Amino acid sequence: LSAEAQRVLDEIDEKDVDFLRLQFTDILGTVKNVAVPADQAEKAFTEGIYFDGSSIEGFVRIQESDMRLKPDASTFAILPWRDGHSARLICDVINTSTGEPFEGDPRHVLKGALDRAAEMGYEVNAAPEPEFFLFEEDEDGRATTKTNDAGGYFDLAPKDLASDVRRDIIFGLEEMGFDIEASHHEVAQGQHEINFEYDDALTTADNVGTFRTVVRAIAAQHDLHATFMPKPIPRINGSGMHTHISLFTEDGENAFHDGDDEFDLSETAKQFTAGILEHAEALAAVTNPTVNSYKRLVPGYEAPVYVAWSDRNRSALIRKPAARVPAASRIEARFPDPSCNAYLAFAALIHAGLDGIENDLDCPDPVRENIYEFDEQKREEHGITTLPSNLSEALDALEDDELVMDALGDHVAEKFLEAKNAEYDDYRVDVSDWELDRYLETF
Ligand code: GLN
Ligand code: MG
Ligand code: MG
Ligand code: MG
Repeated sequence: LSAEAQRVLDEIDEKDVDFLRLQFTDILGTVKNVAVPADQAEKAFTEGIYFDGSSIEGFVRIQESDMRLKPDASTFAILPWRDGHSARLICDVINTSTGEPFEGDPRHVLKGALDRAAEMGYEVNAAPEPEFFLFEEDEDGRATTKTNDAGGYFDLAPKDLASDVRRDIIFGLEEMGFDIEASHHEVAQGQHEINFEYDDALTTADNVGTFRTVVRAIAAQHDLHATFMPKPIPRINGSGMHTHISLFTEDGENAFHDGDDEFDLSETAKQFTAGILEHAEALAAVTNPTVNSYKRLVPGYEAPVYVAWSDRNRSALIRKPAARVPAASRIEARFPDPSCNAYLAFAALIHAGLDGIENDLDCPDPVRENIYEFDEQKREEHGITTLPSNLSEALDALEDDELVMDALGDHVAEKFLEAKNAEYDDYRVDVSDWELDRYLETF
C-alpha cells in the first residue's frame, strides 16, 4: 500500500466514513459511481474493484465487459452534502483481461496527451471557467427555465438573489479541496461563474467533474436546478467553459512567457496557439459536443464563432489574457463549453497545441477588431474561417482530422462518433416548438 493510500485509510477510520463512491467518467462526460462500503477501501487500493462495464456509454462490447476500478488516492475527498460520512475516490479504469489501462477511459486519454507533453519537456497547466444557470423547479421538482433572479454582470444583492446559493456552493467546493479565486454573477439573468485556481491538467479535468456535481447538489438543496447546458435560453448569453492553458518546463519556468514579446507570448505559445487554430473545426466536436453547443456559438453573445486569436477582443476563438506575473502568461481557449467531457477536450486541445510546436506552425497575426462586425470579404482578407455551425459539421470535421482522431484513440473516437452522430440524427428528425410556432398556422 502506498503511503498516500495508507493516509486515506486512516482518514476513513478517523472520520467514520461509511460509504465510498468510486468514480469514473464515461465517454460522454457523465460522472459514474460505484458505491462500496468503506471497509472495501483497502481491497480497492490493492486489487481494485470489479464492475460490469457493458452498460456504461461507449465503454465496451457485452462480451468483454469486465472492468476494474483502481482508485487514485490523491483524489480522496469527503462529500460535504452527505452528512460527512460519504467520500469519493476518482479511479482509473483497468481492462481486466490485459491488466492494462482501458483505452476507453477518458482519464487515460488525457494521460496520453500529458505523456506526450512530458516527452517534449512540458507540464501542462489548465484552468477552466465553467458558467452555469440557476433555474427554479416546478411543483414536481422538475427543472424549469425560469431564472430565480434578474441580475446581470457582477450585480450584487438584493438583485443577485443567488448570492446565498453561490456562497454555499463555494463552501462546498472548498470543503472538497478547491481553491476558489472569485465568483460573480454573469451577464445573463440567472447565470453565474465560479473560478478556481489552476492546476495540472489532469487534476483540473478531475475538478471539472467534481465542480459540476457539487454545484448541482448544493443548488438542489436550495430547490434550484443548476444547468451546464450551453444555451438554455435563446437570444441571451449562453454558458461557456473558457479554458486557460500554459506549458511549464521541468524546472518550473513558464514556457509561454516572453517578456520581450509585444504580447508577452513566447514562440512556443504562438505555435501552440497556431496548432489549436489549425484544428479548430475538428476540436469543436470534442469541446462543443452537443446539438445545443452550436446555439451558443453564434455572433453577438461573447462566444466565439471565428477562427482567430486576439490580445484584446472576446469575439476570437483564443484570447491572450493580461498577465500580472510571468508565471501567469497563458492562452484562453474561449470556445469550449461545459457540456464537454473535460478529459477528452483537454486531451484534444493539448495534442493540437503540441502538434503546432512540433511542426513549427506559424501563428497568424492577432485580430484586434470586433470580428462579429467583419463581413465575409474582410474575414477572407484576414484568412479567418468559421467554426462548424452545427454538431453534424463538427463531427464530419473530426472524422477528417487525423490528429484529433488520434488524440482520442481508436476506441474513444469510434464510440464518440457513433454516439454523437446518433444524437444529431435524433435531433434532425425531431420537430421543434420553433417550427410549430412558425408554420403550423401559416400553412
Ligand atoms: N457567456 C460567454 C460565453 O458563452 C462568456 C462571457 C464572459 O465570460 N465574459 O462564452
Ligand atoms: Mg471569467
Ligand atoms: Mg465568464
Ligand atoms: Mg474568460
